[in-house]
Amino acid sequence: MHEKLFTPGPTEVRTELLQQLSTAQIHHRTEEFSRVYDDIQVNLQKLLYTDNPVLLFSSSSTGAMEAAVTNGVKKRCLNFVNGAFSDRWHQITKKNGVPCDKVQVPWDQAIKPELVEKRLNSGNYDAITVVLNETSTGLMNPIKEIGEVVKKFDDVLFLVDAVSGMAGTEIRVDDWGIDMCLAGVQKAFALPAGLTVASVSKKLLKRSETVENRSYYFNLPLLYKYHQRSQTRTTPAIPQIFALQKQLNDIVDDEGIENRFERHKEMAEYVQNWALKYFDIYAEEGYWSNTVTCIENNRGIDVSNLINELVEKYNIRIANGYGDLKNKAFRIGHMGDLSLVDIKGLLATIEDILSL
Ligand SMILES: *Cc1c(COP(=O)(O)O)cnc(C)c1O
Repeated sequence: MHEKLFTPGPTEVRTELLQQLSTAQIHHRTEEFSRVYDDIQVNLQKLLYTDNPVLLFSSSSTGAMEAAVTNGVKKRCLNFVNGAFSDRWHQITKKNGVPCDKVQVPWDQAIKPELVEKRLNSGNYDAITVVLNETSTGLMNPIKEIGEVVKKFDDVLFLVDAVSGMAGTEIRVDDWGIDMCLAGVQKAFALPAGLTVASVSKKLLKRSETVENRSYYFNLPLLYKYHQRSQTRTTPAIPQIFALQKQLNDIVDDEGIENRFERHKEMAEYVQNWALKYFDIYAEEGYWSNTVTCIENNRGIDVSNLINELVEKYNIRIANGYGDLKNKAFRIGHMGDLSLVDIKGLLATIEDILSL
């Protein structure tokens, strides 16, 4: 029996999807491949409510985060930071030599649209980065409302890391004015790691053509050139692409996109109510995530012990608090293809172990 993952990425992958990884390979310069590519494309655009092209990166999400800032910034980038992954995006921007500043917000608080407006009024920036769902803290930033603000600034690009949210919570890329919306598939898509998808706007593509030194591997105009032929620029992770094709067909045609988001909401609310009954929730109220809950350890339990016992006796894995939150919190991923029944079983097991 394998270890069932309730971690906020990588997540549990269904056997039917795993089987897609072991089929015969096809060549990526064939019509057969292009048909797979087009099928994926149509469904990704539905999932993200967008007409923008959605590019495929054979890398983890961090690669696409790097693509966003190396291709999308001419003047100066503003990185909004309220958790580990938004902080990483600032590091990525800096280490690539892209001019940038960071706005630090306490980890338990959301990025508010008013703050974004205030900082953009300086006129210093032509791009901002925000993480939709901070996997380290279980906090979901108000991307729609931030998008309303960014729309007032014509030359500012809105770059969004949606890694642990995409395919688990609604993201309306076109309505919300998101110029790049990226996510690795090992989180709410519930697929094996190794592939990242990202929608890119015309505005971003136009900007990127004028940016010098915009990386070779993560070069948006070049990636887009091949996209127009329904191909990837370099040899892609073909097994993962087969798995993504099947998963998108299952999401769009079998479960239904809106039903999928509704199921995530139900699981989230169940975990949140449970957390409030026995513990507390780390993130500011009103911004709790639909895909991961960070539970504050206000009872002083031994978190490492709980995790070990879940693994050793029940073959279940949850996650400790991230970084400084280790042992002060623990995280439950309620995303991907898990069901409310799975979640109820997990929480009942935790109650047993802790004698709650
Ligand atoms: C997991 C995660 C990342 C990093 O993803 P990799 O695929 O490991 O590069 C970035 N941002 C968020 C919000 C994440 O949850």
